[in-house]
Amino acid sequence: MTRISLVRKLPAIGRLLDDPVLGGVLELYGRDAVRVQAQREIDGLRHRILAHEHASEPSSDTDSLSIIGLERLIEDLPRRIAEQVSLSFRGMRRVLNATGIVVHTNLGRSPLPAEVVEEVVPLLTAYCDLEVDLDSGVRGERNRAVAPLLRNLCGAEAAIVTNNNAAAMVLILATLAKDREVVVSRGELVEIGGSFRIPDILAAAGARLREVGTTNRTRLADYENAIGDDTALLLKVHPSNYRIRGFTEETQPDQLVELGRRFGLPVVVDEGSGLATRTEHSRLKGHSSLRELLEMGCDLVCGSGDKLLGGPQSGLLLGRADLVESCRRYPLYRAMRPDRFTFAALEAILRRRLAGRPMPLDSLWQPFEPLRRRLEALADALVEAMVKEGVKDLGVEEVEAQGFVGGGSFPDEAVPGPALAIHPADDELARRLRLGEPGQVSVVGYLRDQKLMLDLRTVHPDDDVLLRDAVIAAVASPASPSPREREQP
Ligand SMILES: *Cc1c(COP(=O)(O)O)cnc(C)c1O
Repeated sequence: MTRISLVRKLPAIGRLLDDPVLGGVLELYGRDAVRVQAQREIDGLRHRILAHEHASEPSSDTDSLSIIGLERLIEDLPRRIAEQVSLSFRGMRRVLNATGIVVHTNLGRSPLPAEVVEEVVPLLTAYCDLEVDLDSGVRGERNRAVAPLLRNLCGAEAAIVTNNNAAAMVLILATLAKDREVVVSRGELVEIGGSFRIPDILAAAGARLREVGTTNRTRLADYENAIGDDTALLLKVHPSNYRIRGFTEETQPDQLVELGRRFGLPVVVDEGSGLATRTEHSRLKGHSSLRELLEMGCDLVCGSGDKLLGGPQSGLLLGRADLVESCRRYPLYRAMRPDRFTFAALEAILRRRLAGRPMPLDSLWQPFEPLRRRLEALADALVEAMVKEGVKDLGVEEVEAQGFVGGGSFPDEAVPGPALAIHPADDELARRLRLGEPGQVSVVGYLRDQKLMLDLRTVHPDDDVLLRDAVIAAVASPASPSPREREQP
């Protein structure tokens, strides 16, 4: 058979869509969606066959496919289309986080406690008094319920909430420093990840950056020398995700406060992680809490509501009543104010926080013994399943792993703890676990030295059974060929 006749073997799209293999996805996603994907696959395959025909380099990738290989790809078309359609329409999925990183931004930061979700449901499935004062019946203010909780927790004069901390920063800078200068240390011109870069945030807010000092050393005198008629405020940013070590000097917030007072300039601190008080996580060092910063006299501070606090995505903006009020009245706040879901969940989280209930980060320092028992149960079940399925080439053992706070916070804080290692493991096993074998939950672990690591500190014990079944299914499933192998005859 020539390659041109292979092209003729490519099925017509109408016939392809009638293939029973596509019945399921047709029903779920509709004919149009499947047709688009089918056309894409046919075009791709035609291109490959023709490229193959014209390939002059025998070693080229396409040429390594034999005619039989190409014929198989044609036969495999319906299955591939079904797989691609399912992948491209895959919605958000529940994931078990076995990375040991508590505030995992890519996995939604930290989970909300189930009780909190139950508490907010009645506020979401009905109307609520988001912006009405039920006492007088007149229009109210949406920060009404959370503001006193935040004031109480952090010792602030006033507080408002934004959609996230990045928004809080932009709002502060736009309100207080539009078209004027903001003095920042060169050691704090950081990028936090997900495109939060201090110089860009300043530019977005219309403020001018006045950088002072050097990467590793910035003295009080550097700030002082930069102050001029155009200076709007002094800004300090917690570098969060990196540390400068060695020959360093950093100006402390209380020194900046003293300087600000002398020149009548507000001092603003982007604390970042949402550490409300020192006692909250006494193990976390070298970082002033929101409460401490306010006690030092900082005029405005901001942090995330969904990092250490474990709340919904939000920004906490706290400080001097007049400045907070200016921010709240600034027109941009309209574009940054959260909805009732955020306010309701944050309120519930703050109440728990004030009542001293456990916080997500506590799991990082949980005692080893119960953890070891969970790991052992998982290992035993896994070994038993592997014996039953005849999987002989995998080992399972407990190893020491490092857990992290995550969310770009406290990069130095690696917390050792036991984890399960499955080895030798490759990307394909990790992928099967991530995607979840049919009927199984998705599990995200990580690879280290050809070991698939599962850290249970970030998995709720109630989910251990789901985790076990997912790992067993991924390990015991007949090793599905890698995409490359799939295309070889
Ligand atoms: C995380 C962080 C931000 C961004 O906060 P989001 O809530 O993700 O917008 C900004 N600044 C610092 C210092 C941070 O740590």
